[in-house]
Amino acid sequence: MTKKIMLDPGHGGHDPGAVANGLKEKDLVLTIAKKTKAILEKVYGATVKLTRSTDVYIDLSQRARLANNWGADYFASIHINAGGGTGFETFRFDKLSAASSTGKQQKIVHDSIYKKIKEKAVDRGKKSENLAVLRETKMPA
Ligand SMILES: [Zn+2]
Repeated sequence: MTKKIMLDPGHGGHDPGAVANGLKEKDLVLTIAKKTKAILEKVYGATVKLTRSTDVYIDLSQRARLANNWGADYFASIHINAGGGTGFETFRFDKLSAASSTGKQQKIVHDSIYKKIKEKAVDRGKKSENLAVLRETKMPA
């Protein structure tokens, strides 16, 4: 059965996210999300939606609601930081039930992405935090 994946390019509209070197996080993550959507659809046959496909602001709860209402199987919010070092890191919700708190799915996603970029990026690790889009989504995120 085809998997439904909701990709969430962070920020947008009046919220640029990180700004550095003449670049805005909101633009970069939108480009990354669109390319990821195309690959997941063409290579993996997934059904992919974006929480935003233009430069608009959507609040965090609305992003989670879009995924919940669609019945997504997986949710991923894409961000790029401007400070505090370089590298690649993933986050899962830090208050998961014991059964799902082992981070098994995070490990699968994290390791498969990092495998592709390891020559260019430091592995900052698999982390967990209480972030709204992780807390309010009902599927693995
Ligand atoms: Zn961000």
